[in-house]
Amino acid sequence: LELPIHEAVLGRAAEFGDAPALIDGTDGTTLSYEQVDRFHRRIAAALAEAGVRKGDVLALHSPNTIAFPTAFHAATRAGACVTTVHPLATPEEFAKQLKDSAARWIVTVSPLLQAARRAAELAGGIEEIFVCDSAPGHRSLIDMLASTAPEPDVRIDPAEDVAALPYSSGTTGIPKGVMLTHRQIATNLAQLEPAITAGPGERILAVLPFFHIYGLTALMNAPLRQGATVVVLPRFDLETFLAAIQNHRITGLYVAPPIVLALAKHPLVAQYDLSSLKYVLSAAAPLDAQLAAACSRRLGLPPVGQAYGMTELSPGTHVVPLDSMHRAPAGTVGRLIAGTEMRIVSLDDPGKDLGTGEPGQILIRGPQVMKGYLGRPDATAEMIDPEGWLHTGDVGHVDEDGWLFVVDRVKELIKYKGFQVAPAELEALLLTHPGIADAAVIGVPGDQGTEIPRAYVVRQPESDELSEGEVMMYVAERVAPYKRIRQVTFIDAVPRAASGKILRRQLREHS
Ligand code: ATP
Ligand code: MG
Repeated sequence: LELPIHEAVLGRAAEFGDAPALIDGTDGTTLSYEQVDRFHRRIAAALAEAGVRKGDVLALHSPNTIAFPTAFHAATRAGACVTTVHPLATPEEFAKQLKDSAARWIVTVSPLLQAARRAAELAGGIEEIFVCDSAPGHRSLIDMLASTAPEPDVRIDPAEDVAALPYSSGTTGIPKGVMLTHRQIATNLAQLEPAITAGPGERILAVLPFFHIYGLTALMNAPLRQGATVVVLPRFDLETFLAAIQNHRITGLYVAPPIVLALAKHPLVAQYDLSSLKYVLSAAAPLDAQLAAACSRRLGLPPVGQAYGMTELSPGTHVVPLDSMHRAPAGTVGRLIAGTEMRIVSLDDPGKDLGTGEPGQILIRGPQVMKGYLGRPDATAEMIDPEGWLHTGDVGHVDEDGWLFVVDRVKELIKYKGFQVAPAELEALLLTHPGIADAAVIGVPGDQGTEIPRAYVVRQPESDELSEGEVMMYVAERVAPYKRIRQVTFIDAVPRAASGKILRRQLREHS
């Protein structure tokens, strides 16, 4: 695929014409494909006129809005590389990303302007802050629509030029800037398309953040490339989310496990008409098979499918194709997509390939493997070996039919005496307890240099009597002795990243 990302995504926009591309899920404002196409070209021209040059890094700092995709593709059309920023980042965190990426431009929204200004001040090197909506003293993307500047003449080399610089979630350490070329992102969209087709007439609900690679692909670029309609919500709030599904007749949901949990367990769900839904697909963190089954049973849908990937993989490698959701074995994250290779290797000896059913580290090679971490050649070399295999740091196994199962991250496995315990398995088990609303498990130092599983448990509102002993007993009755929970701490909420991942690091710091 030799197209720059804006061509790969919006190349058919003129053809889709008046069809709705994006709908604001809160006020109904709609952008047609024709508008997105025209708007992003105009804004690209205006950005170039304002001084944006090929290779400049532009920080896009916004919650999900219907303007986000236009801003993103206008920037890449002007030749910029877009680094997406968490809308709730503190000025300090934002400044760190600006500095690390050597950003020169910011596009933000008026409610976040103060944070953006402060971050620009702290980081230095910012030429101008634009706003998507409007704010005194700042050029607005809306005004740019009236620009008469000529379309910028930038020549993009899709194989070399970096289109996006998302930061990894920072689950295991500091977030790293991941350099993804036009070709890497565009190729991955094409690789995933046969499995998750969402064309005209389909309505996708964008509730996970666009700034994270999962949202950027599954909720923004993939549906826009295919002519579907994206209904946009700025943040996850269960009632708004359910109302949007009902009122906009949403057909497909791309979510993370905490939303599957809410769909499976929350009483509010029963009050909405969710009959327009055809499928639910989950990714970004381990999803337990029982929880997935409870969700699909309640909604009367095919089994919840999964996809697997990481920022460094543009992001996908495995998916349960929409037409195979009934056939896929419970708990699988999917099958390897075309043009991609995988190996499962021993955790002790990365040179040793393992057979069917044997869990080991997942290695990936393919056209979607990142160009590298920005400014971190050592970290890049640690991740991608000289033969081009990316070491995911995840543990998994495949069955005879090629379905992949992800156990957990190598780093999160709890080493209890000679055994390895996956926190994800224990978390899933805890969630089957009717008195438990949410749970997280980490390893903490025990006797004789071993690690023991400690559970952080959020009680259901009506179960405030649930005791530590009961939690430990519930698990002990259901797992091999080495997997038993040995400590329990009750908390109010499990800390999670915007992408839905449990921030075990935070639990560890406070333990
Ligand atoms: P950092 O690399 O900064 O520590 P991160 O790895 O959480 O953060 P992402 O790139 O957002 O950053 O997440 C990729 C990871 O998410 C994968 O390595 C894997 O551990 C997890 N993941 C993604 N999809 C799934 C899935 N379907 N099942 C289990 N885990 C998944
Ligand atoms: Mg990672």
